[in-house]
Amino acid sequence: MSVEEVNDKIYFDKDASLDIVLSKKVAVIGYGNQGRAQALNLADSGISIRIGLREDSDSIVRVEADGLKHSSIDSAVSWADIVCCLLPDQCMADVYKNKIHDHLTPGSTLLFSHGYNIHYNLIVPTQDCNVIMVAPSGPGDAVRQKYQDNSGIPNLIAVHQDATLDAFDIALSYSKAIGGTRVCAFMSTFKEETETDLFGEQVILTGSFPRMIKESFKVLLEGGYSPVVAWFVCFYEVKNIVDLFSEKGIDYMFKAVSETAEYGGQTRADRLIDNDVAKEMKEILQEIKSGDFHREWMKESDNGLPNLKQYREPNDIEELFNELTKVLLPKIRK
Ligand code: NDP
Ligand code: MG
Repeated sequence: MSVEEVNDKIYFDKDASLDIVLSKKVAVIGYGNQGRAQALNLADSGISIRIGLREDSDSIVRVEADGLKHSSIDSAVSWADIVCCLLPDQCMADVYKNKIHDHLTPGSTLLFSHGYNIHYNLIVPTQDCNVIMVAPSGPGDAVRQKYQDNSGIPNLIAVHQDATLDAFDIALSYSKAIGGTRVCAFMSTFKEETETDLFGEQVILTGSFPRMIKESFKVLLEGGYSPVVAWFVCFYEVKNIVDLFSEKGIDYMFKAVSETAEYGGQTRADRLIDNDVAKEMKEILQEIKSGDFHREWMKESDNGLPNLKQYREPNDIEELFNELTKVLLPKIRK
C-alpha cells in the first residue's frame, strides 16, 4: 500500500470542523468507561451536552461531581441532535427499544463506539436519522487522559446511514471534539469494525495472548522451575517486549533483541503457529462473519453465562499465578 493510499484514508484536525458539533446538542447515554471520558472531552471542547441515565443510576453522584447536567434517557434523547449510545453492548438493544427509538427526532444522529448492535441487526434505527460510529482505539481512561495532555487516541469512524447527507462530517467533527483527530481518525465500516474487533480480541488480545502466558507458565512449573522465575519470564517480560514493538515496530524489536532470541523465536514460532493454527483462525473469522459467534454469545448471555462462569473459576496453576501477581506487582512497581 502506498503512502498516498494510506493518507487518503486518514484524517486530522485540519480536515474536521468543530463548528458542526458546536452547533448541536449532544446526549451521552451511559456514564461508564467511554461515556464519562467522551462526555468530559466534549464539555471541555465547549459542546452542549447532557448525560442520559437510568432511574436511580449509581452514576448520578459522579456526573454531578463532574459538573455535568443529566436527565432520564428518554428526555435526553428528545432534547438532543446527537445521541451517543455508550452502554454495555449486551443491554444496548433493550435500552434502545424502550427508551431511545420513540424519542429520536427526525434528522438526528445516533452515534456508537462499536458496531455490534447495528451490524447484527439488534438495533434497526428509522431511516430518517444518521447512524455513525466514532470508536476510540483505546479505553476510556486513555481517551480522557490523552485529551487532557493535549493529545488524543486514534478514532475509527464509519457511516451506516446518512439521512442528512453530512453524516461523515458530523462523525469527523465529533472525533475532533473528543481529541481523536488530534492524532488521527481512520475510515471504516460498521461491518469491518465489528468483525475485525471481534477477530482481534478472540485471536490475539483476550484469546491467545493471556492463554499463551498461562500455558507457558504451567509448562515451566511442570518442568520443576521456580514459580517466581516462571512468572517473570512468562508474564512480566511481556510488557517490555510489547512496549518495544508498539513504539518502534516488530522489525525493530527483532533488531533490538539478541540474535539468539531472534533465531530461537522465529524457528520455534514456525512450530507453534503452524498451519493448524492458521486454519483455526480462518474458522474463527468465518464464525464471526456468518453470525454463528454472535448467536452462540447471545445464547450464552441469555442463559446467565454458564460457560463463562466456569472459565472464571481458577484452577490450581491459575490460583498460584494470581497469587504471585498480587504479591509481586506492588513490590516491583515501586
Ligand atoms: P460501560 O460498561 O462502562 O457502561 C456503563 C454505563 O452504562 C453506566 O453508566 C451504566 O449505568 C450504563 N448502563 C448499564 N446497563 C444499563 C441499562 N440496562 N440501562 C441504562 N444504562 C445502563 O460501557 P463501556 O464504556 O465499556 O462501553 C460503551 C460502548 O463503547 C460499547 O459499545 C463498547 O463496545 C464501546 N467501547 C468501549 C471501550 C472501552 O474502553 N470499554 C473501547 C472502545 C469502544 P449506571 O451508571 O446506572 O450503572
Ligand atoms: Mg472494542
